Amino acid sequence: MLLEPFRVEMITRDHAERLAMAAERYGPAWTREVIEGWFREGHHSTADRSEWINDGLPGLCQGLCTAGRPEAARLLAARAWHWMDGRLRLWITTARGEIRRPQLELLSSPLVKLLEAADDTLREEITGALCEYEDTVLECLIPALKFVGARSIAGLDAVVRDCAQRLRAMADQPPRDEDDWSIPWTGCGCGLCDTLAAFLGSRSRQVFEWPLATEGRRHVHAQIDSAGLPVRHQTRRQGRPYTLVLTKTGELFTRATNARHKATIDLAWLMSMWGGASERT
Ligand SMILES: [Zn+2]
Repeated sequence: MLLEPFRVEMITRDHAERLAMAAERYGPAWTREVIEGWFREGHHSTADRSEWINDGLPGLCQGLCTAGRPEAARLLAARAWHWMDGRLRLWITTARGEIRRPQLELLSSPLVKLLEAADDTLREEITGALCEYEDTVLECLIPALKFVGARSIAGLDAVVRDCAQRLRAMADQPPRDEDDWSIPWTGCGCGLCDTLAAFLGSRSRQVFEWPLATEGRRHVHAQIDSAGLPVRHQTRRQGRPYTLVLTKTGELFTRATNARHKATIDLAWLMSMWGGASERT
């Protein structure tokens, strides 16, 4: 029952004892191969795997440790982290907040469960990696710390300190000058993106009328949309080529204000719950 075509999502706490017995009988190389096979097998959905890490992994690891096979628990948790690390990296670097935020929030509870299932070495590896990610990781970590609540998970102090530091830096950002319309951005490196970046980077230019053929307009649209830039794009269908009219929107200012406001609120919450941890070094 433990061999292929099983996927890891089918392995639960109830299988812990039989897996422990098999691991003992067939040895570490076999155990590793089987566990890695479960993570490779078939097609899994992100939701299924997240749910398994959330609901199945902690009990399964505990069962394996009780049955005297902590190394099998370690392998499962390590593979689960390998998968989650990939998901986190994917979403953290997604520019559009409305797509990124819900995905990162979905990973927050499974991340807590994974930290609980991990042994000290893996937990240290995970918390180290979390501190290295970009600031958007906060969109996973703050909900994760809310899940942890009053429970205590070893090794979380470093994560709390890192979150506090990031939030403080964000909350302390001076407000954007009223006449500063610059948007830092880098494109794909092509000439069109260079022109777009020059317009975006300008403090004073708010509107850019750009005569541009269809292909070029399409590329610029795609760049603006995928980065979720606060820029409206309209095509004026007169003359040849048509003119692409780009207009920076006031969202540039409200986004910065909202981000500062949210950081202030999250920091206050973090301090009220974890104030002690953020001071410890
Ligand atoms: Zn380009």
